[in-house]
Amino acid sequence: MINHISELYGRQIKLSDLSEELQHHPAIHVRPALGKIAGRWVCTRCQAKLKPILAGLPNGQFYCYECIQMGRMDTLQGLATVDEPNRFAAVKHPMSWRGHLTALQAACAQQIVEVFKNHRRHLLWAVTGAGKTEMLFPAIEWAIHHGLRIGIASPRVDVCIELFPRIQAAFDGVSSILLHGQSEAPYQYCQITVCTTHQLLRFYHAFDVMVIDEVDVFPFSGNPMLHTAVSNAIKPSGGLLYLTATPDRSLLRAVKSGDLSVGYLPILYHGHLLPEVTIIKLPRIAAQIKESRLPGQVMTMIGRLVAASQTIFVVCSHDSGSSASWGGHFQRKDSLPI
Ligand SMILES: [Zn+2]
Repeated sequence: MINHISELYGRQIKLSDLSEELQHHPAIHVRPALGKIAGRWVCTRCQAKLKPILAGLPNGQFYCYECIQMGRMDTLQGLATVDEPNRFAAVKHPMSWRGHLTALQAACAQQIVEVFKNHRRHLLWAVTGAGKTEMLFPAIEWAIHHGLRIGIASPRVDVCIELFPRIQAAFDGVSSILLHGQSEAPYQYCQITVCTTHQLLRFYHAFDVMVIDEVDVFPFSGNPMLHTAVSNAIKPSGGLLYLTATPDRSLLRAVKSGDLSVGYLPILYHGHLLPEVTIIKLPRIAAQIKESRLPGQVMTMIGRLVAASQTIFVVCSHDSGSSASWGGHFQRKDSLPI
């Protein structure tokens, strides 16, 4: 049960979850949980266009089957919102992190500050181990200085759980909260929210700046409901940063069409470049494997790497023979450790 108005700042919550007194508060806007657009029921919270045959209830009402896991939206419900007031205590020196960014990290971090300043949408494409979280800190600090509300979301709950204490430690005087399906701590209005992308369905025009980490992974990638959740949770003037090591096709399309600017960091935190991949096409390899042979070029290359005591990772597809037969091949014929 929600008793205090601050729990509704920038949120969209079922009217029946509010105390009787709060339901009549003058600051609250109420929208119908389901509305009709062109004769079709549409969920106000997740924007799903509903099929009547699936959405119909025995009592003649309709409900949203798409976002049901976040609590039922139906035609008897209202969705309550209070405008985000950015009511945060001023913190003079919000960043308690005393680490150091490399020159390249600092350049990416500055790009993020500019994205937030200019209310843009940006993709930071950085390899795993590039220090993405630390690169966020200057932009978060800037946002706190300006009294902005910050959202950091990931489709993966383990990412949120791992990220939250690092954010807390880096901004220890700033209010922050972690939200996910299994969290038991009661909701509180905070300047920094770390949450799963599903939790964003409970926010409405809340965040001035938003970061989506691991944007390419399940269940976010290709899920229109979660993309809607992000768009609704950000203020219309808000800045959005996508973070990933492996952008999917839709992100790359957005970059190509100019909807998204992009920054690329192919360097690990210790300053080493990722090795460039060389592709060697061997058109007859499948036929040779069937004959229990491997191309001489592959044997020479593996022999060279083994002699240099380097680690080798061999991946085979189903149609090019099983890994067992590859391993067996080397052990049997060449006694090479794989
Ligand atoms: Zn819905």
